[in-house]
Amino acid sequence: MDYPGNLFVVAAPSGAGKSSLVKALLELDSRVQPSVSHTTRAPRGQEKHGREYFFVSPQEFDAMVQADGFVEWAHVHGHRYGTSKKMIEERIAQGADVILEIDFQGALQVRRVFANAVLIFILPPSWEELRSRLERRGEDAPEVIELRLRNAAEEMSQAREFDFVIINELFERALFDLKAIVHAQRLKFPAQRRARADTFKALNIT
Ligand code: 5GP
Repeated sequence: MDYPGNLFVVAAPSGAGKSSLVKALLELDSRVQPSVSHTTRAPRGQEKHGREYFFVSPQEFDAMVQADGFVEWAHVHGHRYGTSKKMIEERIAQGADVILEIDFQGALQVRRVFANAVLIFILPPSWEELRSRLERRGEDAPEVIELRLRNAAEEMSQAREFDFVIINELFERALFDLKAIVHAQRLKFPAQRRARADTFKALNIT
């Protein structure tokens, strides 16, 4: 199915800077919307239903799994999280560009459902830099950092499955690369024909 909006899926090993890049893109480009996942965990602090997440009961989550309502879902820290197929479909059908920030397995699953999804992998410039970013972040104990680095090796070996690769060495450069990918999708023939229908008509291009 060909939708007017694009679906961008960004994956990266922990510490590569994925969240900051996506956040910066969302601030710069109002045509890109984040996808709001469903979760069985309770809201924290100021979190609002429908903004950070759709907070649902385990029974509601089960019902969505049964009804094949998720593009992908996973157990994370004792709760379940999933990306709703309908939510994405509705938004890209309206012409919005949706961006998903998920792990690489989820990303590959998304492409099985949305064949035109644009898969972007963010890489760190080196092992040393990845390690030092995880250490500087100060969120994880040393053994957790070792685990994240081992997982990163496994994840990065899947980078070839992705359409685009961004090496996040300099943040501004990486953000430029991400914007370029989004922009290039909007210049594709079907997208341009939709966006500039009058021009195409005047030029007799069908
Ligand atoms: P938190 O509860 O701290 O908001 O998120 C916990 C973890 O769940 C994060 O690593 C986040 O990336 C992951 N997560 C959030 N939404 C989804 C989703 O829709 N699918 C999957 N697979 N993971 C998700």
